[in-house]
Amino acid sequence: MIRPAEHPEVAMEAYEGKAKIVRIVGEDDVEIFYKDDATAFNGQKHEQFAGKGALNSRITELLFRYLEDRGVPTHHRGRLDERTLAARRVQIVPLEVVVRFLVAGSLQKRTGLDYLTPCDPPIVEFYYKRDDLGDPLLNDEHIRLLGLATEAEVSELGGRSVAAARHLQSLFAGAGIDLVDLKFEFGRTPDGLLLADEISPDTCRFRDAETGEILDKDLFRFGKGDLVAGYRTLLERLEAALPGAV
Ligand code: UDP
Repeated sequence: MIRPAEHPEVAMEAYEGKAKIVRIVGEDDVEIFYKDDATAFNGQKHEQFAGKGALNSRITELLFRYLEDRGVPTHHRGRLDERTLAARRVQIVPLEVVVRFLVAGSLQKRTGLDYLTPCDPPIVEFYYKRDDLGDPLLNDEHIRLLGLATEAEVSELGGRSVAAARHLQSLFAGAGIDLVDLKFEFGRTPDGLLLADEISPDTCRFRDAETGEILDKDLFRFGKGDLVAGYRTLLERLEAALPGAV
């Protein structure tokens, strides 16, 4: 997701992506600033939404802490301000791991299955993090050919992703929300793989379990409603399902 920042004052020390700026602040530490930008369709659609950065950083913080409490190691370290999180510096594995509980998006397109058809057990997919190629779907043999991860790592990435996704699915079920699908990224450290990047309505699909109301970036992708209102509702319901969240 990242390319060198164009801001001279932080050049060499920061990377600017579509929705975040990652500043390297030490051997082991980064600061992640959440922008108000939303992009879709590989950057073809782009808009800014005041308040989005703060909402996504808060949702990511709560979800990383929830996962940490359940034994899932993440790169999250803490909050610095309303829209900046502190994280451990990692080497991002150039694979996006998608876990799907219900059919939507590219899986619906590829298979012709009905929207929200259950996937049981959940489907795991790997995509190559390469904007210039349009983030293509890869199978295990493609990953091996490209040397992106070892066979053991691929199996660990898949297993860890499903375990983390199941924790989140049950958390959101308690909030009356269906987790449809989501995308994880992982980072390498000398101590092994850590869940990294963000977990937010930019990287997950959420539907109200009763009404089917969309509470994620599909609001923006398909012009289905007010993105900030949807993300705010998601956060409020998440906070209500996490008593004691501060
Ligand atoms: N996703 C993401 N970043 C990407 C591609 C997908 O965070 O670059 C998330 C997306 O929000 C959804 C899940 O991964 O929750 C599955 O996305 P899909 O393959 O259906 O692609 P889409 O149709 O969203 O582009």
